[in-house]
Amino acid sequence: MDLNNYSALANATNLPDSQQFKFCTDPVAYETARPVMSFLRRTLAKVAFNASLVDQVKRHLFYQEKFRLALTPEDFRTSSILPAVAMRRDRTDFLHGVIGAITEAGELAEILDSFLVGTHADDKPMSELVNKTHVMEEVGDVMWYLPLIAKSCGFSLNEAAAANIRKLRARYPDGFNELAAQFRDLAVELEKLDEQPKG
Ligand SMILES: [Mg+2]
Repeated sequence: MDLNNYSALANATNLPDSQQFKFCTDPVAYETARPVMSFLRRTLAKVAFNASLVDQVKRHLFYQEKFRLALTPEDFRTSSILPAVAMRRDRTDFLHGVIGAITEAGELAEILDSFLVGTHADDKPMSELVNKTHVMEEVGDVMWYLPLIAKSCGFSLNEAAAANIRKLRARYPDGFNELAAQFRDLAVELEKLDEQPKG
């Protein structure tokens, strides 16, 4: 499955324009959502901050930079539960891939945080409200780490994409709806993820 195919199939389970999110069209729903968005901003700041800490770990472990953050006695005490043997390449790729995806997602969190300040009511396309080149860069950065995770665990990104589409089709057989999003049959979804593709 190529990336364009995957995007089209994944988007088919997005909310259609005819059923816009309530807070887009209803001023009362929007007022109710505003404090939740403030909560989101507060949380995004923590996500971005923690992702920057994870980035320091990544730079130390993989790019030979000095680790400058303070370690606590707890870090030394709990380090004894980690494996004593040096890690193999698949382990280090998995570690690198996951912490890299987290740090790049943290950069997207920062972009979202800036976007949320004072621009909601602006009637302009997204490409004029955010720095498109910057967003594209971070999306590409996240995408750099995904094959690393997939390869380390022995699956391809094609397999992950196909499994995700099977899962979404099980969740939304008639297209996206809020009830199906809230009340998911996790057992059926798991079955679809594990299913071997036909043909
Ligand atoms: Mg980046």
